Amino acid sequence: MSPLQEIVNPIGVELDETARLMRIRWDDGHLGEWTWEALRRACPCALCAGEGSLPGVVTLDMVFTPEQTTLERVKWIGRYALAPIWADGHDTGLFTYQKLRGMCACAEHLAAAEADG
Ligand SMILES: [Zn+2]
Ligand SMILES: [Zn+2]
Repeated sequence: MSPLQEIVNPIGVELDETARLMRIRWDDGHLGEWTWEALRRACPCALCAGEGSLPGVVTLDMVFTPEQTTLERVKWIGRYALAPIWADGHDTGLFTYQKLRGMCACAEHLAAAEADG
């Protein structure tokens, strides 16, 4: 019997303003990487992603302003999620650690995703 998913926690978050990337070092040693734009596009809040019968404002071909994809800092939510605070003031998107791991865009995970497809 193995658990459905391992529980991993972030040790530290780094925002790379030049490359516009967020990196998280996890306590299993993995270094995760996400582009700011991918994070903003995946914002799970009710406004961006929609809720119930209401569609979200963020669609696949939506073009963001530079402010909307500039990550100013990250707010820690309990022990399960973090919320990026964007330059346009948006901060209601809670990314659970599980979600972040699932959309990891580091070289290792991208290569694994390509091999699967
Ligand atoms: Zn949002
Ligand atoms: Zn990864």
